[in-house]
Amino acid sequence: RDVERSRGLGDVYKRQAVDGERLRAADKEPGNWMSTGRTYDEQRYSPLTEINTSNVDQLGLAWRFDLNTHRGLEATPLAIDGVLYFSGTWSVVYAVDGRTGQPLWTYDPQVDRAWGINACCDVVNRGVAAWNGKIYVGTIDGRLVAIDAKSGNKVWETLTIDKSKPYSITGAPRIVNGKVVIGNGGAEYGVRGYVTAYDSETGEQAWRFYTVPGNPADPPESPAMEMALKTWNGGEWWTVGGGGTAWDSMAFDADLNLLYIGVGNASPWSRWVRSPGGGDNLFLSSIVALNPDTGAYVWHYQTTPAETWDYTATQHMILADIEINGETRKVIMQAPKNGFFYVIDRETGEFISAENYVPVNWATHVDPETGRPVETDEQFRDQAKMTVPSPFGGHNWQPMSYHPGTGLVYIPAREMAFKYEREENFKYGENRWNMAINMEAMMPPAGVEPKLMRRIMKAMARGHISAWDPVNQREVWRVKHPGPWDGGMLSTAGNLLFQGTAEGELKAYDVEDGTLLWQHETQSGIVAAPISYAVDGDQYVAILVGWGGALGLAGGIAPNLGDKVGGRLLAFKLGAQGELPAVPEPPAPPKPPEQTASTETITRGHQLYHTYCNVCHGMGAESGVLADLRHMTPHTHKIFNDIVLDGIYSGMGMAGFGDYINKDDAEAIHAYLIEMAHAEQTELNESATWSAIKAVSYTHLRAHETSLHL
Ligand code: CA
Repeated sequence: RDVERSRGLGDVYKRQAVDGERLRAADKEPGNWMSTGRTYDEQRYSPLTEINTSNVDQLGLAWRFDLNTHRGLEATPLAIDGVLYFSGTWSVVYAVDGRTGQPLWTYDPQVDRAWGINACCDVVNRGVAAWNGKIYVGTIDGRLVAIDAKSGNKVWETLTIDKSKPYSITGAPRIVNGKVVIGNGGAEYGVRGYVTAYDSETGEQAWRFYTVPGNPADPPESPAMEMALKTWNGGEWWTVGGGGTAWDSMAFDADLNLLYIGVGNASPWSRWVRSPGGGDNLFLSSIVALNPDTGAYVWHYQTTPAETWDYTATQHMILADIEINGETRKVIMQAPKNGFFYVIDRETGEFISAENYVPVNWATHVDPETGRPVETDEQFRDQAKMTVPSPFGGHNWQPMSYHPGTGLVYIPAREMAFKYEREENFKYGENRWNMAINMEAMMPPAGVEPKLMRRIMKAMARGHISAWDPVNQREVWRVKHPGPWDGGMLSTAGNLLFQGTAEGELKAYDVEDGTLLWQHETQSGIVAAPISYAVDGDQYVAILVGWGGALGLAGGIAPNLGDKVGGRLLAFKLGAQGELPAVPEPPAPPKPPEQTASTETITRGHQLYHTYCNVCHGMGAESGVLADLRHMTPHTHKIFNDIVLDGIYSGMGMAGFGDYINKDDAEAIHAYLIEMAHAEQTELNESATWSAIKAVSYTHLRAHETSLHL
């Protein structure tokens, strides 16, 4: 108590612990943000009004907390009775005083950095859960940990995965009826998805729900798996895993006692490899309703039957009661990657409506009678097809927000094309993406300069806020962004909509029409979603700032400030005038060594790089988050093979690839990187560039009028 008082926390710990009753009545505590979506219905709407459209111009920086990381921050903090709890990279958990940012404790689960090789989309974590005096986090290496909320000490931990498989956890746990529910990721590498519930006090497993069937030679684990198995035909998906990982979204309806889970994409992606006899392949890309006490299946709605584009349905799900045709409907809403916005009856799973919220060319529409998408043609079965949306989705994990006053859902959307092409003679391989898709197909044809290539990539991808009317299924207004990878949303009863951008700004808009009312520099790109909370009568807006995640890592596609400043939590309140320290000038990149390799070797290096390296180090060797490999020092060049083959930097997250590539391969990759370093220092001829972009775009890359922004 004395320690608490000396920290000035007053009655912070006097209140009862967070439990189901408090979470169900979260609207009675508008100053708190007690679960990742604030309420069980995950609307991400704050009822606080102190900060509003009339005074938001007086919003200033109250405090900052530095996390000492240079990788992506995706978490939504919790705010409970004046304390903020949140997670950072490598699943580290922090508790700070909500009024000052003063640290209370840090819990580091000591993740083996070499496990980072299994994280497709940065070593991120999207947040923690709170229950009965404990804070819960899922770690990137597959553990679920319960931490004492006062001391930051571990209470229990349990392993939720088979460590011989490339699973990872990035999503926030949800706690329902005393059980902690957690899923996992890894479908790109090749795993079988499931969610598991654990007793919140003991960590004992209560139930597990598999999302896709295993080997048909083994008995199905549940009636749901028996049903699902009938929708998979031929192929040997179980050897790759099948996918269907539930790596992010969940929601809970306490009245219906239904837990909703969002299920991810297939592994491998290609349906012609995975299930050559056809079928819907349940429960890929589905919303599944479960009994949270038993894990028993109740209903499902599949957004993308037989998905083959990485069109996950793991995107944020919002529960709301809205009036449709004069009738109040209990709905669940989602804008999954596939480009359609869905309104589904959350009691029965009945399809209500769907319209595309971004350009879509894999389906013409969703049939209102059957609730199934009507596909356009044979897709990329026989030849490559430029498709919208891309695997990054019309919308990804960045949370949306529902404002009950406007009735609008605010979607952090993107328009981006991707060239899908089947990988010839696909064979499963460890420590690589196993999608049966040729990643190199995305590259422009041979001979196109790397700088030009990046401009083409950038020209193909843009983001925007879409203010979406779910009743009439139409966009009401839009705010365009220069890049495709911006932050999640928060709307408030002060009629404000907050979002952080890739360019490094937190912005506030009018919820009615998208008018920009306020912005503040944050010095690094933002991908996380903001929250609002109140302590001692002051309303705050807080957000994690730290560029990264899938498209952040991808490098050249998304404009960003890089990692000149480390990750931070920033908190704003009215009248505050805090300032961020000046950003240091980056040193000039070192001169690359001379190129001694043959064109053939460089070309082979290009292929190998885009098989093993590009997902983390960026397409075309332009890094977005990690050290830029075009800027290696003479010493790094000297020890290149020790890093790449022997893994001498595995303690920093760079695992050795010696089991998968040989010395010749490493040298070819090295030669390619040297080539890219020289290319970076060559000036591009501007006018020639633009005519080449147009020529390439129209003959090779053109997908959809609105997906190209030339
Ligand atoms: Ca995926």
